[in-house]
Amino acid sequence: MDSTDNCQSVPVQPPDGRDCTGKSVQQAVPTTPAAVDPPALVLLVHASDTVPDACEELCGGETAHLSVTFADEEPSCPTEEEISGRFGQLTIGNVLADDSAPDFTQSVVTETVPDPTDLTAIGIAVSRFCKHWGDTDEGLTVCFDSLDALLRHTPPADVFQFTHVLANRFASVDAHAHVHFDPTHHEDRVVSAFSVLFDAVVAADCDEPLPEATDEDVASMLAEWTDTALIDSEQDAISEATDEEIERLLGD
Ligand SMILES: [Zn+2]
Repeated sequence: MDSTDNCQSVPVQPPDGRDCTGKSVQQAVPTTPAAVDPPALVLLVHASDTVPDACEELCGGETAHLSVTFADEEPSCPTEEEISGRFGQLTIGNVLADDSAPDFTQSVVTETVPDPTDLTAIGIAVSRFCKHWGDTDEGLTVCFDSLDALLRHTPPADVFQFTHVLANRFASVDAHAHVHFDPTHHEDRVVSAFSVLFDAVVAADCDEPLPEATDEDVASMLAEWTDTALIDSEQDAISEATDEEIERLLGD
């Protein structure tokens, strides 16, 4: 009798494209800007000391463009002559800027939210750009820089809810938006949990593979963050968000 029949040692290989550590059903697989079908909400993952080409690739050409920037000083804006569409600069930080109301009849519009922890004010300011520019033929593109800046000032559960409200606001006007995120100082499961809010994840200039948390990890984190039931129960209301509703949803 041939005893080797009972003791095969053929290694069992998982089929291509799968791993043995757990399936990633909720988490977006990283893609490239060219593969993103606009309008979409894109999480742009990269180290914060660089501005990846993907940022510009996701911004499009003759559009209304909103740039949201956390800064210590007011970023420079293009002049009316330099742009073909419209350009909005929303600066978050104490930059001593002129605090008059933005004039949306101009092609270059600036606004400032001095307090980076004031998610309600940030949400309303972004929503106002959506309201004025979201329904134009040009289409609205948004660069939000960045999620890690938000997380420096505010607990992740609040930032998650804020991002969710914003995602629905962008979707309501078919904005093509991307949000920068440097994952360096965050747990894998935080990065993974945020990625579920986005249509696509683009990893730019990244040698390291994106962190992958297990579904259980992500699910428990999301359960913790969505505990207040705001997100599930009011999803429909959020997608029709007006400034007042944003204030109500994000306000205390
Ligand atoms: Zn960008």
